[in-house]
Formats: sequence, C-alpha cells, structure tokens
Amino acid sequence: MQVDLHDILKIDGKKMQVNAELEMDQFHGTFGDYPIVRKSPVSLEIVNKGDRNLQIKGSSEVVLAIPCDRCLEEVDTRIPLDFEKEVDMKLDEEERVQALDEQYFIEGYNLDVDKLVCSEMLVSWPSKVLCKENCKGLCNTCGTNLNLKTCDCEPTDLDPRMAQIQEIFNKFKEV
Ligand SMILES: [Zn+2]
Ligand SMILES: [Zn+2]
Repeated sequence: MQVDLHDILKIDGKKMQVNAELEMDQFHGTFGDYPIVRKSPVSLEIVNKGDRNLQIKGSSEVVLAIPCDRCLEEVDTRIPLDFEKEVDMKLDEEERVQALDEQYFIEGYNLDVDKLVCSEMLVSWPSKVLCKENCKGLCNTCGTNLNLKTCDCEPTDLDPRMAQIQEIFNKFKEV
C-alpha cells in the first residue's frame, strides 16, 4: 500500500496514523521467495518533525514459511516488526538511499509500505529456523529426511550445513 505524504509535509508537528494493508503475498529473499502465511495491517504513525523531517514508526507481524535450516521443511515463522525511522525529505531520492543505506521506500511523496516492511523483515530475520529443536536434518549422502525415515548410508563427518550450501549452489546453476 502507498501512503501519500503530501498533506503531512504541509504542517509542522502534524501527525497521521494509518493502518496500512500489505499487498505482497511473498517475500523475495536472497536465497528465494518465502510465502507469507499470515499478515496483519501495519499500524503506522508518521509525524512531521519540522524542517521536512518525518518520523515513521510502525509495528506489525508477518508469518512466513521459511525452510528449516536442517531438513528444509517449511516452518511457519513469526517475523515481528517494530521500527522507527527518520526520513529527511529535503534530500533527493539518491541521497536518501545513501543516507538510509537500504532499499528506499519513498518515491516522490509516496511511502511504499510493502518496501519498507521488506527492509525491516531483513532486520528482524531469525538467525536460526528449525522445524523442531531436535530436527535430525537430511542425510549428507542421499538427502533422506532423517525425521521421517532412516537410510543405510555410512555416517560422515561432513557438516550438515554443507548439504544445504550444495543445494543452494545447485539451484543457482539451474537458473
Ligand atoms: Zn527440520
Ligand atoms: Zn542416506
């Protein structure tokens, strides 16, 4: 959803509150697309701090289907969103991108809530996603999901993460 910032920029001290619906149904991540399982509107508070500075606060929660780090089964993962940003509208778009050091979410006078939320999701991204604490992962040799069945491969010392890196690598080769 786009929020028009024309009105709020006219009056210093003005405050606006918006419940912004997210349009996206999936999140485009570095290693692929993650379906959004649940989303709720982003409650945004935008304040004109004067001198064309805007303070943008927002909170929401998105649930994404993210593959388990070990077995790659999709796990419904809560991504809490709670952010506060200052945007200097005196800067042009290029300067703003550099100042914020992230994907820009304001184009002209439009705040693109989806883009803003995407960059915040990266910030809140979980360091670890497991389907369960004791997930057995995939066999390094044959790729069997060891939570579901066993295989006859000899155990190896290969780091289980190597198998996933290999898989990601293979995905890239297919493209
Ligand atoms: Zn797992
Ligand atoms: Zn195996």
